[in-house]
Amino acid sequence: MENTKIYDFTVIGAGYGGLSAAALLAKEKLNVLLLEAHSVVGGCASFYSRKGFLFDAGATTMSGVRKDQPLGKLFTQLGIEPNLKKLDPGMIINIDGKELKRFADLNKWKEETSAFFDSGDKLNKFWDRVHQINDLSFELISNNYAIPPKSLGDFFKLIKFSNLKGLKLLPYLFEPVSDVVKKYGLDKIKNFESFLDEQLLITTQQNIKKAPFLTAALGLAYPAETYYPYGGIYFPAKEIQRFFKEKGGEIKLKSKVTSVKLNNGVYEVENQKGEKYCSKGVIFNIPVWNISDLVAGEIKEFYTKISPKTDGMWGAFTLNFAVPNNLENDLPSAYYQIHTGETVPNCSSKSFFCTLSLIDDLKRAPAGYKTVSISLHTKAEDWLNLSKEEYSLKKLETVKYILNKFDKVFPQFYGSEKLHLEAGTPRTFLDYTSRFNGYVGGIPHSVDLNLLKMSPNVTPFKNVYNCGDTFFPGQGTLSVSLAAQNIVQRIINA
Ligand SMILES: Cc1cc2nc3c(=O)[nH]c(=O)nc-3n(C[C@H](O)[C@H](O)[C@H](O)COP(=O)(O)OP(=O)(O)OC[C@H]3O[C@@H](n4cnc5c(N)ncnc54)[C@H](O)[C@@H]3O)c2cc1C
Repeated sequence: MENTKIYDFTVIGAGYGGLSAAALLAKEKLNVLLLEAHSVVGGCASFYSRKGFLFDAGATTMSGVRKDQPLGKLFTQLGIEPNLKKLDPGMIINIDGKELKRFADLNKWKEETSAFFDSGDKLNKFWDRVHQINDLSFELISNNYAIPPKSLGDFFKLIKFSNLKGLKLLPYLFEPVSDVVKKYGLDKIKNFESFLDEQLLITTQQNIKKAPFLTAALGLAYPAETYYPYGGIYFPAKEIQRFFKEKGGEIKLKSKVTSVKLNNGVYEVENQKGEKYCSKGVIFNIPVWNISDLVAGEIKEFYTKISPKTDGMWGAFTLNFAVPNNLENDLPSAYYQIHTGETVPNCSSKSFFCTLSLIDDLKRAPAGYKTVSISLHTKAEDWLNLSKEEYSLKKLETVKYILNKFDKVFPQFYGSEKLHLEAGTPRTFLDYTSRFNGYVGGIPHSVDLNLLKMSPNVTPFKNVYNCGDTFFPGQGTLSVSLAAQNIVQRIINA
């Protein structure tokens, strides 16, 4: 073996989860090796550049960056201050050509939705409940690294007075949103359920009939705290990477792990070039289905057992381009959800999410231009086994549909040249992130597969942990960084 050094931990996959775990371990003075298959870090929250423009590859928004929230806590621990701007409204939802502004202030949001849905004060109690559940859930999961409990020791760690109030959250794990909507008498309000369906698809990855109210509340409250990262969501990731290296962490890019074996109490990790590294522990930050292919024996049995079925998993269709921008005043938000009222061709959503760079974000686009990043849900399998021609035609049909809608919603860019236009499909995600079948967005939350049943961060194997969006607590840069922080707490306290 060419490398005789024994690291404390090898972290596999430099998405937000792996980066967070690696940086926090390095801060604790552990010897950490971070292996990443791609040539840049960030994974689904990475970027690519085209002649002076930077485009987000997937994720675009940040939330949970207040000092008491997971990403905020991470940034504080690492002493980094990414250049973020809180947007209010955090998102604008366009339904039938009318705009619903997602204001940060709860009372303003209640007034906005009451007027938009012409529902009097019927929605007020619903939004109050959403925000109460959101705040309490955050408090609990941010202050208890042993959630969900996986051992008797974990249960004891959770027994404290301040956690008792969390018990009232339990019923919401098993109650679908559609039942709550009925209970509050909101099912007769025109467009309200379809509004919830599309909002929940981008957060819980699920519709109102299946999404449990607990995770739905987190998803529905999310846009109240929306932050725009200048330059793109890759920039905070780059700062975490810088911190990691400054603390002595080693990162190897273009290093795709092909096997992880346990030999005499030491994990031997091999990449596609045949390079081997030894460590006392391993943190997997890749999708759960990817791990089974890297391991053997009882470790493989374990990962196969905890891998959820793939039938409800999502892929993403993305479309990026730049437009000339003559607006002197900026648009009221950078984030728009455009409801289409019908399923977008070759996709599964009746909406698409659209991010337009801010005028003063000169990292993403030169003066006089804006970048536009659009994404929506699609079935990954529908894109994987097509001939070259079928694939191109299908992509073109979806692009044309989206551009047509975009021009209607943003007449200020109507007919303008769409520069560097590029569409991505699950095939693209498979190529660039190596994620199994190109599935993205984690595991859809449902009443059957609720938070507590998600694949665990801990394993029965010594010093082997999991993070990333297919493990508890799920998708999003916020959640994967929380999982990483919980794992590191466990390691420090072990
Ligand atoms: C279109 C889209 C829009 C989204 N929008 C948002 C948003 O606005 N806000 C938000 O917070 N979240 C959003 N998300 C979700 C968010 O991007 C992800 O949940 C999160 O970034 C996942 O981070 P991760 O660390 O779990 O995994 P990933 O980002 O997938 O990182 C895994 C890394 O592992 C590497 N890898 C894979 N296999 C190997 C191997 N064998 N060896 C070495 N390296 C390997 C990959 O190259 C990749 O870099 C979006 C996702 C998509 C796809």
